[in-house]
Amino acid sequence: MEIYLDANATTPVLAQARAAALAAMADDFGNPSSTHSTGLKARALVDAARATARRVLGAPTGRLLFLSGATEGIQTAVLSALTALRTRRDAGERPQPELLLYGATEHKAVPEALRHWNALLGLDLQVLAIPVGRDGRHDLAWLREQAPRAGLVCTMAANNETGVVSDLDGIAAALAGTPALWLVDSVQALGKLPLRLAERPIDYAPFSGHKLYAPKGIGLLYVREGAPFTPLMAGGGQEGAARSGTENMSGIAALGAVLAALEGGQAFAPHETLKAWRDLLAEALRAAFPSLQFNAPPEACLPTTLNFSVPGLGAKLLMDAFDAAGVRVSGGSACGAANALPSHVLEAMGLPAWQTASAVRLSFGPAADAGFIAEACARIRACGEALRDSCLLERPILGSASAPADGLTRHPVDGDCCYLLADAASRRCVVVDPLPALHERLAQWLRCQRYMLAAVLVTRADSLQAQAAQALREAVPEWLDDALGRHDAFGFPQGSDRLLLGERCVSRVALPGAPAAAAAYLLEHASGERVAFIGEGLSGGVVREPQALAEGLRRFEQAVGARSLLLPSRDVDHRFATTLATEWAPCEDLGDDTGELPPAQLPALLQARPGSLLVDVREPYEQRLGQPPELHGLPLACEAVALSGLLDALPRWLALPADTPVLFFCRSGNRSAQAARALRRLGHARAYSLAGGLALWPRVAAASPNWALCT
Ligand code: PLP
Repeated sequence: MEIYLDANATTPVLAQARAAALAAMADDFGNPSSTHSTGLKARALVDAARATARRVLGAPTGRLLFLSGATEGIQTAVLSALTALRTRRDAGERPQPELLLYGATEHKAVPEALRHWNALLGLDLQVLAIPVGRDGRHDLAWLREQAPRAGLVCTMAANNETGVVSDLDGIAAALAGTPALWLVDSVQALGKLPLRLAERPIDYAPFSGHKLYAPKGIGLLYVREGAPFTPLMAGGGQEGAARSGTENMSGIAALGAVLAALEGGQAFAPHETLKAWRDLLAEALRAAFPSLQFNAPPEACLPTTLNFSVPGLGAKLLMDAFDAAGVRVSGGSACGAANALPSHVLEAMGLPAWQTASAVRLSFGPAADAGFIAEACARIRACGEALRDSCLLERPILGSASAPADGLTRHPVDGDCCYLLADAASRRCVVVDPLPALHERLAQWLRCQRYMLAAVLVTRADSLQAQAAQALREAVPEWLDDALGRHDAFGFPQGSDRLLLGERCVSRVALPGAPAAAAAYLLEHASGERVAFIGEGLSGGVVREPQALAEGLRRFEQAVGARSLLLPSRDVDHRFATTLATEWAPCEDLGDDTGELPPAQLPALLQARPGSLLVDVREPYEQRLGQPPELHGLPLACEAVALSGLLDALPRWLALPADTPVLFFCRSGNRSAQAARALRRLGHARAYSLAGGLALWPRVAAASPNWALCT
């Protein structure tokens, strides 16, 4: 079962709402503007839905328009207010407002609409953000000072990212006696807070159906009686000519059903119950991530929203883990989720950078039930366990690590790459090119795995990495190998030319054309496999002596081998590795073949090529949290190689017959695309990535499977 905890982004459609929408499409499909009986039935449906909305919102008077959603409601309100301001200006009224104000934590739709219409109407008023405090609430003293100069003030009822509830009475008091119009974005408040619109001097209040169990594409705008109004849509005169365009009847029917359910009080849990559920979720989060910080005081928030950050764990990592466990949460806001920017809401609240960059939002709707919350809590706890088991979180009992780590892992941060070489036999490890952002994570890993740190190597002695190396040594004195006390500027133990870790050996290797401050290292395994850490590249500077460079390259090839992986300290294109052979070979033209396999083609590929290799590149904690992938209800044979551990597996896949398909998959298709591209570039052309990842995993069965199955 999917545990959907992203209700502030959108909600599923309530069963009653679905039924009402279907009936409006199948039976009562009329156009409410028609005067025949079919049309009259449709008109009655619209009127009934509006009447319910008036009661639920406490808005017996004023306009209540059906429109496409909150963004349209905001545009209509801003256009109406700004048109009135322009009329006042053109009539030469005094004093002229100078400001348009909006809360610094508003949804983007508000400041963008203000700027858009301000420019389009030629008003050129100053658009200013109302500062908020650490608790996310508006600075009312600031507002009191500025409001007399404002033409329009926009403040949300509750914040979509943090759930912080605004002090609407305090804002109303700050605006009292000023000519400013007041817009309250009420999207997140509906169904979670009592709304008595007419009791406050609110001029405009937009709502969105899909935030409360109605479908997307339907919303409401309340406009106080007497507040300025200008239609955004002109046309056939629907909605009393306030919003032209044939009504979205299925949307109105569904929203009407949701509002009726809200009024009936049966389908939605009361405030106190929601708070109790939120407290259970908060407790589960604290148990799973003992060091977590809530980013807003829960008592100042909607009872359905929690926003938190965990030191050392990025939002992406947490979301991957939650998603694997079938728990859908979001990082910051839904709009920002794809581009992974730090949250502007948390920045406005003055939270430290690590907290704004790693925030996760968990939100549920008032139609949840106790069983759903209990299951959510259990899965949150399981996420904590899985991350602890992967040494990403502190363990309460030392020595309880599952399998000891062994092999080479790659840890990229903004294009820079750090490598961790772990040797299970000797319980020793080496870090190459550490990065400040990984510091806490590496220290945590060492404490958890209980490995001795044999060396912290850098490929540039004059780099940020060299400073990070020193900081790492100082942070974990109890895990430093004796030899580490004396090392050179690159971190290599002084007086020795080899570092031994079980069957692995790390030595220096001369890098052709490199400046004096650069170094490279060769990692050799007793099996004969070799890998080189080459830092910024093979020819780091201007080549002044081509002959010497050619000789250097020959020696480098002899020492390292033409087909050994060369690992850079910077890898913005996610190439992972190169080889001398790859660099020397002419680029192969793969034509239109992008290496992306559409999910619907997976059954056919496995049918046609039973020897295909399926590789799950998700991290071990994700693999542990989720169900193994299956087709026809049968588990599929697949290899588990996390993207961080790809380097160790690349040589093995490169040795496969050229026609063996290697199909990578992950959660969304991003990491698998990186893996497929890396393997193709190194020479295995039949490397593919499952487009859309497990999210789009094919559910349609193909006939009689004959591929290998896990047993
Ligand atoms: N305002 C707030 C507070 C929201 O959360 C959202 C949606 O995320 C919007 C406005 C925009 O709503 P809609 O999707 O209906 O345009």
